[in-house]
Amino acid sequence: MSPCYHCKSARSAFYARENGYDLVKCSVCGLLYVSNPPKIDEIEQAHIQGVHRGDDTLNVTGAYRPLAKSTYREVLRDLFGASFPDKGSWLDIGCGYGEFIEVLNELSQGSLNTFGSEPNIYKRKSARQRGLNVEFLDLDNHRKKYHVISLLNVYSHLPDPPQFIRNLRGNLVEGGELVIQTGDTAGLSARDHYRPFYLPDHLSFVSEEILAEMLEENGLEIIAVKKYPYLKPGDYSVIKEAIKLILPRYSSRLRYLILKKYSNTDMYIRARKVRRVNLSEQE
Ligand SMILES: [Zn+2]
Repeated sequence: MSPCYHCKSARSAFYARENGYDLVKCSVCGLLYVSNPPKIDEIEQAHIQGVHRGDDTLNVTGAYRPLAKSTYREVLRDLFGASFPDKGSWLDIGCGYGEFIEVLNELSQGSLNTFGSEPNIYKRKSARQRGLNVEFLDLDNHRKKYHVISLLNVYSHLPDPPQFIRNLRGNLVEGGELVIQTGDTAGLSARDHYRPFYLPDHLSFVSEEILAEMLEENGLEIIAVKKYPYLKPGDYSVIKEAIKLILPRYSSRLRYLILKKYSNTDMYIRARKVRRVNLSEQE
C-alpha cells in the first residue's frame, strides 16, 4: 500500500472500491488516492494527457464542444480580470479539440502565442483544421519555457502530481503561471462523492487546501482560486445528470442536497512561479 503523495503519511482509511481498485482517504491531509495503482510504466503520458474532458467517460468521439467556450470565457474573466495576458506564450496540456485555446486566441485577439499538447490524433487533426497550433509533446523531455501553462481536467490522472508540478515549473519563465482545473472533492463523504470515480483512470482527488499547499511547497504562489458548479452547459454529463434527477427514486430533498454539495466543486487555481530560496545557500 502506497503512502500519501502529498503529506507522505502511510495512515489511511478505506473510502470506496471500484473496478478492482481501492480509493483511500489519507488520515492526515484528507487526500483521496488509489492505494493499489497500476504500475507506473502502464500509465503512459499519452494516457495522462489524453483521457480527460469527458469524452472517455461517455464514449463520445468527435465531440468538439463549442458550448464549453462560454464557461472558459467566464472562468478566464474571473481568474485574470484586467490582467489577462495579451502577449507571451501559453501551453494547454491535454487540450483535446482545443476549445480552451480558441478562447485564449479570441480574448487576446490573436496576440498570445498559444500551443496545445494532445496525444489523440483525431483531436489534434480537428484542432489543426481550425488553425490551432497543437502537437503531442513529450513533456518529460520538453525544454521550452512558457508564460502560462494550463492543465484542465488532467490532474486526477497524474501518477505523481508533485513531481509533475515540479517539472512544469521548469517549463515556466520566471514569474510564469500555472492554471490548474480539477475537482475540489476530497472533503466530500464517500456517500456524497459523485460516481463513478473512473478508477484507475483517475488516481487521486484533492481539496483546495491540499492543492494550494502542494503548489506552494513547489515554488508557486496562489494568485486566485475560483469554483463553479460541477454541472455546466457544454458538459454532456449534464444530460445524464438531468435524467437521473427526474427519476422518481431521487426525492426532491436528495436533489437539493446533491446540487448544494456539488455547487462549488469544479475548481480552478491560478499560481505564479516564485524564486525559490535555496536552503543550502541560507546557511
Ligand atoms: Zn496525506
